[in-house]
Formats: sequence, C-alpha cells, structure tokens
Amino acid sequence: MGKGTTLSLAQRALVEESGYQWQGLTEEAALALARGEMAVEGLDDGRLLAFLELANLLYRGGEPLIDDAAYDFTYLAELRRRQPQHPFLHSVEPEPLAMAKTVELPVRMLSTEKAYDFAAVAAWAKRLEKAAEELGKDFATLRFRAMPKLDGFAAYDDGNTLYTRGDGRRGTDISRVFERGLQVARGGQRGLGAGEIVVGRSYFQEHLAGLFDNSRNFQASLIKEKELEEPALAAIRSGEAVFFPFALLPDWQGPWEELARDFEEVVTSLWRAVDYDVDGIVIEVLDDELRQHLGATRHHHRWQLAYKRNTETAMVRVLRVVPQTSRSGRVNPVAEVEPTRLSGALIQRATAHHYKMVVENGIGAGAMIRLSRSGEVIPKIEEVVEPVAAEVPESCPSCGGALVWEGDYLLCVDGMNCPAQITRAIEHFFKVLGNIDGFGPSAVEKLYLGGKASLPVIYGLGEGDFQNLGFGPKQAENMVAQLARSRLLAIEDWRFLAAFGIYRLGLGNSEKLLAAYPLERVFSLRREEIVTVRGFNDKTADEILAGLAANRRLFDELYALGFNLVATRTDEGDGSGPLAGKLVVFTGTMKSGSRDDMKKEAKRLGARIGEAVSGATDLLVCGDKVGAAKLAKAEKLGVRIVGEEEYLRLIASS
Ligand SMILES: [Zn+2]
Repeated sequence: MGKGTTLSLAQRALVEESGYQWQGLTEEAALALARGEMAVEGLDDGRLLAFLELANLLYRGGEPLIDDAAYDFTYLAELRRRQPQHPFLHSVEPEPLAMAKTVELPVRMLSTEKAYDFAAVAAWAKRLEKAAEELGKDFATLRFRAMPKLDGFAAYDDGNTLYTRGDGRRGTDISRVFERGLQVARGGQRGLGAGEIVVGRSYFQEHLAGLFDNSRNFQASLIKEKELEEPALAAIRSGEAVFFPFALLPDWQGPWEELARDFEEVVTSLWRAVDYDVDGIVIEVLDDELRQHLGATRHHHRWQLAYKRNTETAMVRVLRVVPQTSRSGRVNPVAEVEPTRLSGALIQRATAHHYKMVVENGIGAGAMIRLSRSGEVIPKIEEVVEPVAAEVPESCPSCGGALVWEGDYLLCVDGMNCPAQITRAIEHFFKVLGNIDGFGPSAVEKLYLGGKASLPVIYGLGEGDFQNLGFGPKQAENMVAQLARSRLLAIEDWRFLAAFGIYRLGLGNSEKLLAAYPLERVFSLRREEIVTVRGFNDKTADEILAGLAANRRLFDELYALGFNLVATRTDEGDGSGPLAGKLVVFTGTMKSGSRDDMKKEAKRLGARIGEAVSGATDLLVCGDKVGAAKLAKAEKLGVRIVGEEEYLRLIASS
C-alpha cells in the first residue's frame, strides 16, 4: 500500500487517467492521512470528499491508498456523520476503466446499501416488514438469504459476454478473461449473472503476495488488455482465480426471527465459509413480489443489504475527559486520548456516552481503554482495561451554572443563560433548515459574543451590523443574502418545525405530526389529538406539548418573518382520492417536474410507488421516451396507462 512520501507510479497513472480533481487536497496531505499522521477531524468537508474520491479511485484501480477498514470506518463514517445525505454515499462507484469502450449492461448493476451495526440491519428488516404488510404478506414466513460479500472484482456474466460493473448502466466487455481460461467457481456454468472475480486467500499468500500488494490489485490485473504474466496464468490454470457468481455462494437461509436471534453466529460462520477476501455479509429477502414492491433507489435495491463489521480495535490511554454542553443542556463527556492509529487513521478523542458511564467504568485521566471504530458513533469505547477514578464536573463548562442528574445524564438547567445551549440551538436551526450557508459554529459564536443571541435578532441584521461584529464586507453581504434566501426558498413545513429542536419533534416525528394536523393547528393541539398519530403515546404527547409551549414565542416570531413553507398534505381525505391505495409506476422523461417530485406528490395522495410494471400495478404514468417493450408489457398485463397530462388532470380532480 502506498504509504511512502509520494504516490507510486501506478497510483499516479490512475490519478492522471481519471482526470481526478484534487480540490484543495494536496498529495502531501493525502499521504499524511494514509500514514495516519493526520486526523480526519482536521479535514474540512471539501478535502474530506476529495480524499474519499482519491482513495476510492485508487482502490478500484487495484492500487489502494488505505485499507478497507480505514475507508469504511474512518473516512466514509466521518462523511456519514457530517452529511448523511451526501450524494457520494448514495451513488454507484464507477470502475476506473474510463479509457476502454463501454457497452450497455444487460441488467443494471447497483451497489448495496451498507449497515454497520445490528440496529441498522434490524431497521432495514422493519421496513421490509412494513412493505410485506402493505402486500398482505405474513412477514414471519418470509425467507431471507445471507451470504459472504466477496471483495473481488465485480462483473456480470450473461452467458456470452462478461461485463465490468462500470457505472452500473454501462460497463466494459472483459470476456477475454474467460478466453484466458478463467473458470466459473464450484464447477458452475456460464450465464449465472452477477458475481466477482476472486483469488484464493491462501493461494495468494503463498504464490502472489510477493508480486502484488494485495489480492484486489491482482484481481484487477487479470482483466487488463495486455498479455498476462506467468503467475497470473498459473492462478487461472490451477482454478485458484475464478469467477464466482453470487448464485453459487454458500449461504444461510431462514426466517428473519432466526437470523435476528443467531445474528453473530450466522455472520461469523459465513465470513469463514470461503477462502476468499470477504468484506461483509449480504442479506436479502427471497420473495419476488416483495422485491418488486420495494424496488430500488438509483444506488441500491431496497430488498438487499450489506452488513459490515470492523474487528480492529486499539488500546489507548485517556489524557483527560472534557465536559461539553449540548443543545439540550446535557453535559457530555468527551475523552481526549493519546493520538493513536486505528483502522488506518489517527484518532485523538472518543465518545463516552454519558457521565454515568464515565463514573461507573472509571474513565478518568490515565485510564487505559480499548477503542473501536464501528457504526456511526466514532470511535467507541469498547472496554475499560485499567480504570481510574473519574472526575465529574460540578458546574456547566459553558455557563458555570449548577448541574443536576437526569437519569444517566448530567444536565445544565439554566438553558436561558447558557451560551453553549443558546449557540447550539441557533446552529441547529440553520443546519436543519438546510438551505443556508455561513452560519456554522464560529459565525454563530461571533454573533453570540456580539450580543446577537437569538434567531429573530439575527434575521433582522443588516450588512452594517455584520461588519460591526467583525465580519468582512464581502462576508457581511453574503450573510444578509443567505438569510434572505433561507426565507425565500421553498421548504417543507415539517422541516421548519423540526429546526426548533423540540424534544421528540425531530424530522420524522414532525413530518408525522404535520401529516395529521396542519401547522397552524399544532400549537393548539390537545393531548388526545396528538396520541391519535401513529407511534405517539401519552408520554410522547406530553413531552411534545411541553416542548411546543416552551418554544411558542420563538416560533411565532420566526413564522411572522414569512418563510416559504410548503404545507404537508394531511391524511384527511386520503382514503377517497383517485390515487388512494393504488400502486403507481412512473416512467420516461416528465415535463412538469422531476420524476422524484412527482413520486413524492403521488405518495402524499395516498399512492404506493412501484419501480417496475407488474401484475399488481394499477397505473403506469408515461412521460417522453418510454420504451416500446415496457408499454407492451403493461398492456399485456392490463395496467391502465396514462400520459403525463392525463395524469395531472387526474390528480387535479382530487
Ligand atoms: Zn450551562
């Protein structure tokens, strides 16, 4: 792996061929990150992305810069933490054979959605359960399949041609690798669809490790146009390098209940079931109708999931535990640790969940702890190996006010006068709104120190005010423009409500609440009305009521500024519209808006959205450029077909 002071020649060639843009990242910084001499926290968003793109590019080209664990559990995890919706996390990674001629793939090859802990796998299963319910299927009887996720070179075999995955739609013809004698694993036939070109792990260690940095590097070399060298030919001849179709993989099958119960066991045994590099476990549901109903995003099939597990941990000494007051007033312990390399990255701090955990486990200065990077919270304290009595702060680190225990948490109760709580609530508002730049922590801090400590005050600031607070003229102009823009751009009313950071009214619950009651009614709702919303019980209702009451004045003041709020379509009347309960498929290019927007609209009108036409489809909405085969299929199945204009008339009548 390229851990030197410059990129290797092969890496450099990949960078140049691909037209990679450094975007503020330098080769020096990239290598410092790869060597674990620079912490991921030190990267701004742009450079983090540039580094991910670089690492991904080199990995796909068979010349990795960092190992998989560092990529998944450090850098990708950091992007997920900072920007969960970032397109980089939701696109099919292209293979770097940009120079070769591409051909259309017989089927679309998507990526797989990833889960990094069991909770995420369970949440996925929950979505499947809901979808099964919609189809009237008994979730308990559905069968699941789990199999190892091979870390090879992805390809698709239609029986005549072998394709690379390319960008998921177009790949390159690499049939030559079969002409070179490559076999299908387990004596299988050609034409079994998607799979991976892999090489035996023990064989690689014994015969190839001296010649190639890693197996990925070797696998990529098998498909290159230039003639193969003897070691590669020998690996093919001996049947150690093969094309392994997913259909032939060893697997586990059974109902979800069993998988959930024996999860660790199933994962461990599948991980060891093949002598190839494995970088996860793929889980899918085996029910065609449900698969059809769930469909796919542009990135992945919703009926399939890859579970990834990080086994790497590090022992590290705690330097000190620093209290930090959050928006809600909870004082969270942050453990600063001796800078240590873990999963290929430098780490300097770890999260201890709450002060009760700190006290009970002895996470004090000098304690020895074992850390892992797994899931979204990074890194995590797995175990306290040598405990040291911990210190508990006596007062709020931000306002100096008294602290009280609330369950496992220490709480600063002086919210009105606590700078941390005030500034973080303001930051939260802008962050959730999501349509405004320039109001991050340092700007908000500056505003706070200048006495501009509330959102209505900030929205009233002019360029001169910003300049008086120490912002440059250009920046002042931009900030005023951003504030105006955030009021002008259309924004869902539930997002606006969620921006207030009211306990129990995050994005999901706000949307649910506003799907039941219009925003204008929210502040006069009674408890009996709130509990009618699915998933809200008495306790939730009381907490929501208390939060709403405490925020009413602020809400009214901001609402009066005139944000461009898009009302959530309420459930009322949904049972009777022309789309209610219908399974609708959109296809072709639409004129009146993006297909995604049209799907959202249809959902609001009570429709279910399908990805492909099937016997269960009620309505096919066609834009321009629809394939004749698709239309013929819909006609044959007796599906009602409407053009875009007819569709718009149909929903206008609702
Ligand atoms: Zn405080």
